[in-house]
Amino acid sequence: MTALVAHARIALADPEAIIVPLCEHLAEHGAEISQEKGATIIALGSYRGWLQSSDGHLVVRAEAPDMASLQEAKQAITSHVIEFAPRGEAVPAIAWTGAGSGVAIPSSFRILTVTDVRDVSPHMRRISFHGDDLARFDSLDALHVRLFLPPPDLAEPEWPTFGEDGILRLPAADKAPAVRKYTIREIDTAAGTVTLDFVLHEDAGPGAAFAARARPGDRIGMAGPGGRGLREADWYLFMGDETALPAIGRMLAHLPPTARGIAFIEIANAGEEQALVCPAGIEIRWLHRHGAEAGTTALLQEAFEGVIWPSEEATVYLWAALEHTGFKALRAAARKRLRPERDHHLIVSYWRRGISEDRQAD
Ligand SMILES: Cc1cc2nc3c(=O)[nH]c(=O)nc-3n(C[C@H](O)[C@H](O)[C@H](O)COP(=O)(O)OP(=O)(O)OC[C@H]3O[C@@H](n4cnc5c(N)ncnc54)[C@H](O)[C@@H]3O)c2cc1C
Repeated sequence: MTALVAHARIALADPEAIIVPLCEHLAEHGAEISQEKGATIIALGSYRGWLQSSDGHLVVRAEAPDMASLQEAKQAITSHVIEFAPRGEAVPAIAWTGAGSGVAIPSSFRILTVTDVRDVSPHMRRISFHGDDLARFDSLDALHVRLFLPPPDLAEPEWPTFGEDGILRLPAADKAPAVRKYTIREIDTAAGTVTLDFVLHEDAGPGAAFAARARPGDRIGMAGPGGRGLREADWYLFMGDETALPAIGRMLAHLPPTARGIAFIEIANAGEEQALVCPAGIEIRWLHRHGAEAGTTALLQEAFEGVIWPSEEATVYLWAALEHTGFKALRAAARKRLRPERDHHLIVSYWRRGISEDRQAD
């Protein structure tokens, strides 16, 4: 595949003084750094960056197989040039030339329009959307997306854009969308449709509040996809509360017909159970909270302790997502039980009781 290439030429008093800390920093984030013909080469994910000091300038070339990776490269290089500029040195305006130059919507970003809203159960709302060019989101390996939820009273939503300097900019604070992670429940790229299931929870933040008021014609943004999803195994163990139900439901529907295993799903009560498409060899066990608040029970950990595992020869895949406290307990239990040389697992915290997603990095 032909690579997309962009260039920048940035006037700096001492370009080397930026190249060294910039590369050290990106190396801490997994970049491989090498030298070739006087240039320092950064290889991170699927992009490459060439940095060279020339005649009072930092000369940069970025190369990537697709526009999303090229935008990522430009953003990483520009933001770190600014960050690592010696104290007091103002970095001149940076303008990339070549592929993707000018102001652009992030290439991993799509605008979705609500087409249908219906309730799967009293606290699970299924919303269908129309969007263009959805192929990149159709992956069982990367199940979740970031939703950009504009403030409800905004007549015309505003979206993030990459400036010609390669930096991602969000709209001004009063117009900025809230960002929340959700899972694609169903996607049909030919029809241009995507369906997401939203838990209608107490103390609704922007995610649950959007689902509660959504009407056909409403628009939101979607970026991604991300995370890890399905792996091949002889025996599957899926565990999660209702926030994980969209991911578990999607994975079950795409397992081979011969798949074997168990899915434990914690929900409020029997009224929240839903029909799931899955192979005959997967047993579904609903765990009811019987009036306890979400995120306060040990139902999933207890279920894990009671699992009857397959024979020693079988490989296992455990996928689990739940509230943060339960996640920590389950992760500790799984590390003791699973065999690192044979089994794979993904155990993730999907939300924190009493803390909105905005504050989870605090
Ligand atoms: C990778 C990933 C995928 C996810 N996929 C989905 C999905 O497909 N569907 C889905 O519904 N959720 C999903 N979640 C969980 C969802 O992102 C969180 O529940 C998120 O907090 C909801 O945002 P909000 O704006 O409604 O609430 P926030 O503003 O984040 O939080 C407001 C308050 O609500 C509480 N709260 C948040 N979630 C719940 C809950 N489920 N039950 C009770 N109280 C809660 C918080 O503790 C806080 O007190 C996913 C999370 C991750 C990380």
